[in-house]
Amino acid sequence: MRNQAARTRKARKARSRNARVQRSVVLLRSFKDDTPSWTLALNLSALLADVKLTLVGSEAEGQALRDAWFRTRQTKESFEQHIEFITADDNSWRRHVVEALGKADCVILHLAPKRKTWPILRVPHMRKEGFGDFFSAPLMDLITGPSVLHEIAYLERLNLLPRTILWIHRSHAGYLLRIMAHALPHGGGWFKRVDATHVRALTPRLSARNRQLGKLCGRHGMVLHRSRDVKTYPRRSKSLLELRDQVLLVLSKERRIKSHFQPTTNALVGKSPLPRRLPPDGELKVIQFVNVEDLMRIPPFRISDVDPATVLKSLSADSIALGCPSCQCPIKQIFFYTRDREHSIVRGRCQECEGYMTLEDDGTLFLATYLL
Ligand SMILES: [Zn+2]
Repeated sequence: MRNQAARTRKARKARSRNARVQRSVVLLRSFKDDTPSWTLALNLSALLADVKLTLVGSEAEGQALRDAWFRTRQTKESFEQHIEFITADDNSWRRHVVEALGKADCVILHLAPKRKTWPILRVPHMRKEGFGDFFSAPLMDLITGPSVLHEIAYLERLNLLPRTILWIHRSHAGYLLRIMAHALPHGGGWFKRVDATHVRALTPRLSARNRQLGKLCGRHGMVLHRSRDVKTYPRRSKSLLELRDQVLLVLSKERRIKSHFQPTTNALVGKSPLPRRLPPDGELKVIQFVNVEDLMRIPPFRISDVDPATVLKSLSADSIALGCPSCQCPIKQIFFYTRDREHSIVRGRCQECEGYMTLEDDGTLFLATYLL
């Protein structure tokens, strides 16, 4: 009798083990269509049995990854069982990435420079220059691909940063840590007073995209790899095993780190005339003329967006030609909105340089502040 009860318990345990939900690990990377990412996906899926790796990319990339799988994995296990490859085009990838991240238990962020090396980090000398010179200087080059920098904004919106592991080459760690410190919105601030009349800029002039790297200070951890780790298969390299351990550590955490506000994935994509609770502060916002996922920076407070066509009619020809009063990017890069308490004032936030501006009665844009 006792033996039978034990057998039943054992069988129930085995059934529940089989029914265990497969955990989702999303792999974000600097470059789509690139072999090191595929090799990483293949190597890692071999090390993580109960995990499904999710990647978003082009149809050609999906096929290349499938081909690589069948070339290297001589097993009967199907590709779909271990890897979820979501096919997306230029218009739909943002929505697909937000939806995949909405279901993610862990995220691996593979960062690499756009060219052979990273752009030079030049901290400007401000002794002879003023604030105006600093803010009219060009923005620093993008540190890596624009898409992956945009995806870091999604990690923050979905409170996924504490579940994000940075996977980078060991020679890149110093540079990235320096950029992260420079891109931080708080801390030492952007300027230091040198004497009664001069200040010195402590950071290069970073665009909204580059500034996303500062958010990575809130990541779970960073795993460094060597070039050969990602070029060959199969190789149980130390760095790959470390990455696997870190993924398992993240998966063992509670489902989500509690935050003051937990947005839903549905709220973070598309347009809607209905108010939605959105980052950065969880206030009700109406965003109906642009897709939320296309925005780099969403302004705080209760806001409603303004039809860009209406703003264009109010702007003077000179203002349209000039673009953003700070970084001179095209007008279409500026998000226009009103705050619910002051409908008469049309405000703008540049999605390129993060500048806040107001639309004046004479059809010009007045740069108000850079406060984050
Ligand atoms: Zn701008």
